[in-house]
Amino acid sequence: RVDESQLTHGRVLSVHGLQSKVLADDGRLYACAVRQVLKSLATDQRGVVVAGDRVWFRTEARDGDGGQTARRADEVVTADGMIERIEPRHGIICRTSRGKQHVIVANVDAMLIIASAAEPGIKPVLIDRMLLTAAQCEIEPVVVINKIDLVDPVHLQSLVGVYASLGYRVLPTSATTGQNIEYLKAFLSNRQTALAGQSGVGKSSLLNAIEPGLALAVSSVSTENSKGRHTTTAAKLIPLEEGGAVFDTPGIRQFQLWDIQATEVAGLMPDLRPYVSGCRYPNCLHLHEDDCAVKDAVADGRIDARRYDAYCHLLEDDLL
Ligand code: GDP
Ligand code: ZN
Repeated sequence: RVDESQLTHGRVLSVHGLQSKVLADDGRLYACAVRQVLKSLATDQRGVVVAGDRVWFRTEARDGDGGQTARRADEVVTADGMIERIEPRHGIICRTSRGKQHVIVANVDAMLIIASAAEPGIKPVLIDRMLLTAAQCEIEPVVVINKIDLVDPVHLQSLVGVYASLGYRVLPTSATTGQNIEYLKAFLSNRQTALAGQSGVGKSSLLNAIEPGLALAVSSVSTENSKGRHTTTAAKLIPLEEGGAVFDTPGIRQFQLWDIQATEVAGLMPDLRPYVSGCRYPNCLHLHEDDCAVKDAVADGRIDARRYDAYCHLLEDDLL
């Protein structure tokens, strides 16, 4: 049996095959393997540990060296370890491929849902989908509207108003002028945060504005769809200087609806949710059913008709 007092606590930054990079609480970076017995517990998952996991591991000093202080996943690792225990997870983001669910990252405390005011313009449908994803994963969402420097903020007022009135936090930002970058920096400093949003909205630029040392590659819009671009789907957790960390998940930055049943969607939308229990049928889709409390609420204006339209589109385009 493992002597628990001998174990070190840390966070998994990235996973490569059977090895993971683990940042110990004291700032040292370890290359860790996972004990066989842990592997067999999680046969339904491709990766046993994922970026963001909190783990307890046994250290095995390499060449008499107890590990070096390192902060980045790509820094040299000088000590080995064996993961003995994975802490229970919250805030899991999964991806479904070939009918199987894979956990991509764990312990996501918050999700920045990033849209851009221009180039590309805001697509509320995408924001709505990402909000549903966050709700399903029970992750706190913040809607970030970047590139605010490119538009007259007056034009965004009604859109911002809709999300704000639903209780979502909405933050206009500019990586270029620095607007609200200090606020964002403070927000990130005590959480593990995932960034979601289509290519080109400025995710890398925002992170670079928050911490120039990250020096993340910024794409020019013209190369956005070129096939030759090097992408990897391995997720990693990037610790920030001020505390907190962000997930970099190339290739899966636009989290999609997966595993959401059509009948669940209304319950994940804060403005529709209160009416769902009033419908005659427990599995009401609120489309063509009789005695539907949601449709009644739309009819007399308690639910905004545009939001109900968005709901219908989402269901018809993605889930029916
Ligand atoms: P990502 O694909 O979401 O990581 O987006 P990038 O950070 O690579 O940015 C895409 C393009 O948008 C680049 O040309 C950036 O220079 C530009 N960009 C990013 N943020 C802003 C901003 O706040 N204002 C303006 N005007 N351009 C921005
Ligand atoms: Zn209904």
